[in-house]
Amino acid sequence: MSILNTLRSEFSRQPTKHAFKQEWIHTLKNSMPLYARLPPALKETLHQKITHFVGTTSFEGRDGLELSDEIILSVSAQACLLVLNHEDAPYPDLHTVVLFPTAFSSTIEAIEDDGILHETTVQCEGESWEDGTVLLAWDSVNGGASNLSDGENVTLHEFAHQLDALDGDTDGVPILSCVDAFHTWATVLGEHCCDFLEKVMQGEVTVLDPYAATSPGEFFAVATETFFEKPHQLKAKRPSLYAELQGFYKLDPAAWFEGYIDSPENV
Ligand SMILES: [Zn+2]
Repeated sequence: MSILNTLRSEFSRQPTKHAFKQEWIHTLKNSMPLYARLPPALKETLHQKITHFVGTTSFEGRDGLELSDEIILSVSAQACLLVLNHEDAPYPDLHTVVLFPTAFSSTIEAIEDDGILHETTVQCEGESWEDGTVLLAWDSVNGGASNLSDGENVTLHEFAHQLDALDGDTDGVPILSCVDAFHTWATVLGEHCCDFLEKVMQGEVTVLDPYAATSPGEFFAVATETFFEKPHQLKAKRPSLYAELQGFYKLDPAAWFEGYIDSPENV
């Protein structure tokens, strides 16, 4: 039985208790190096979240992509990494994940300098729609999972957009615990965003990918990728931004990478 059928029947029968198969753990260990670095308690939580995620999400393969257990596990594990310590259902508004073998075409509408709405076709590795759909290119999903520390992970990026959109707007401000938390978030992320834009304009290389300069929503999604994949670098360069993300995700990825960044090639 595939992971889809197994976990769906497990989840419908016993949503809070299930057996996560050893073969799935083996697949995660092989395809996602970050999994091995998680503390045992978080690994167990991840298994629970994956069960919920797979049990409540539709997966569609497009352009001939056959959905394997490895594909379902990789997407689900990376998506659930973001919500390991969130108590609610992993992604309450999400209903469908659409997977393509590789980058897919997407039409973007934008009003240009002539004041006219133009349509442009671009190649995308991922998209997050506010209606609860996420589109992903499998080769990028797999590449993001297998490279632990390059700061690029399309799955983390698109699912950060899903969390951001839970309040109705993909604007870089997710749902926070209280009014004070919103004030602090706006102040801290606003300051980092301005400083980052200045550095990008001056052509400086920063710990955040320049794509973060696109909009506040993209700043949050790119900062999320960096938080999970370059936590020590982000903590050193932008400690207050790291602290805000640590507070939102209720996770401290820098602790998972202890000893890892000492290798010269990872600094
Ligand atoms: Zn984005």
